[in-house]
Amino acid sequence: MTFKTLRDFDLNEKTILLRADLNVPVQDGKVSDTTRIDRLKPTIDYLTTQNCKVIILSHFGRPKGQVNPEYSLKFLPAVLTEQWSINVGFGSDSQENITLLENLRFNPGEEANNIAYAQELASLGDIFVNDAFSTAHRAHASTTGITTLMPSAAGLLMEAELKALTNALEVPQKPVVAIVGGAKISTKLSVLNNLVQKVDYLVLGGGMANTFLFAMGKPVGKSLCEKDMVDEVKSIAAKAKAANCEIILPTDRVAVREFKENAPHEIIGLDHIEDDQETIDIGPQSIKDISAILDDAKTVLWNGPMGVFEMKPFDNGTNKVAQKVAALTKKGKLLSVAGGGDTVSALDNAGIIDDFSYISTAGGAFLEWIEGKDLPGVVALKEQASKAA
Ligand code: AMP
Repeated sequence: MTFKTLRDFDLNEKTILLRADLNVPVQDGKVSDTTRIDRLKPTIDYLTTQNCKVIILSHFGRPKGQVNPEYSLKFLPAVLTEQWSINVGFGSDSQENITLLENLRFNPGEEANNIAYAQELASLGDIFVNDAFSTAHRAHASTTGITTLMPSAAGLLMEAELKALTNALEVPQKPVVAIVGGAKISTKLSVLNNLVQKVDYLVLGGGMANTFLFAMGKPVGKSLCEKDMVDEVKSIAAKAKAANCEIILPTDRVAVREFKENAPHEIIGLDHIEDDQETIDIGPQSIKDISAILDDAKTVLWNGPMGVFEMKPFDNGTNKVAQKVAALTKKGKLLSVAGGGDTVSALDNAGIIDDFSYISTAGGAFLEWIEGKDLPGVVALKEQASKAA
């Protein structure tokens, strides 16, 4: 089952309802990161060249179904106008060709996926275009309900995201390496359980590697470690074995006594750690081991840092592994896809964010997708396409 794209429609002079994710970060009244705005531009440009009228639908924050000026999107058209070099109006009275509507979540019908609210939205246009992959894990009026009421397509951004994710995990070139780091395994159990069944190598770093090492009987000192997760770890390891997935754990680690930037540190092996030491990054031998696996990989999927990348020099493990993936990607040797939570800032810190094949800025939706879950917003587009066929 597949979904329709912009190229499947005669868009000329049509009014397009474009679901976007303009839930942008704002600091001191200013948009602090324009990535979401910039990524939407190709779809806006495409629709403009097709003489479309575009009504942009987005949520902003969590006003919980109430009109709340704190969460108004009124400030945004001026920013969009500047970033896209095209006039963007605001609200249902706007006469501009491109108009942003007020925060969808001011209406309780949005998150309730209320069909009357979906109808209200659908009556405003001819074709629905969803370019908000990051909200595809939510079944809301503007992501699923509306697709039952009108012709629907994925926008260019959604299309690129789904293509990258499909190539990385559904129909990947093998060997496939998943790199999973971050703080705790308890938050990524579903991710790990799904990945071990789909990839050839699962490389673990960050705090969660400690829990695996602990389950193997290795000492962890005062490192972040979820000792109550040993059974889960053993079950993941058994599942990996049955599926022929090799779990790669660190072979050395960087240990500190103080959890702070530039703390004195030493490289230690796996068999000994002092009680007052904790691990904060993977060591040089681990970086070499991971690099060797990457040399033969065709596909890499990454979520979560290898260490505490927010504190120098403990971003070293994440940086070195990221730079290796980026270099191989640039040489055309592998497809690399990363996303979820802190991963984007960790890779940004490594200075290689533009060198991965695809970086997903969708936090929750990316994680649910690597958990193997169906995303309601994507399913809705596919169902609409199969009905229309
Ligand atoms: P997550 O959101 O689960 O991907 O976790 C990201 C966080 O994991 C980052 O803030 C890192 O600082 C943290 N992290 C990575 N490695 C470690 C470690 N060895 N000990 C403690 N925290 C870690």
